[in-house]
Amino acid sequence: MKCPVCGAVYRPIKGSRVGIEQRNNDYKEKTATISASSSSSPLLSTASSSPTCRRCKVDLSDLFRLHDQAIWYHRQALHLLSKGRYPEAATHNNQALALYYSNADFHALAGKLSALQGEWREAIASWQQALKFDPQNAIASDSLQMIKLMTTLTANRKR
Ligand SMILES: [Zn+2]
Repeated sequence: MKCPVCGAVYRPIKGSRVGIEQRNNDYKEKTATISASSSSSPLLSTASSSPTCRRCKVDLSDLFRLHDQAIWYHRQALHLLSKGRYPEAATHNNQALALYYSNADFHALAGKLSALQGEWREAIASWQQALKFDPQNAIASDSLQMIKLMTTLTANRKR
């Protein structure tokens, strides 16, 4: 998520806390997070009545509403996935992506859903996209690793 006014980038971290990533800084500095400075009550919690940008103080509630909506679609997608309703899950996850394209988890799930439906090319593209937004994304990197391994095994078997 990006502040529409000053461009500060907010990204959810594990445990639903929100971190700030200043785009102009060195990429390695992105581990500096808001949650580090306000451990128990994150300033950007979606539960708070009016979330504001930490840098420029603009009201971000609309942005968070969109984000919440996206998360809701994503959760629906996970639910449908657990029921084995993959095409419907993919539709919901695509809604989530339409609202919030830079969420690595959404792309990771898109990849999983594509893979479950045998669409490997799409799956790989989605996982690569997930890694672009979050190089640490476990689902995406594990899946791509596995595919690499499978490809190697298949190639060895042919010898
Ligand atoms: Zn801002």
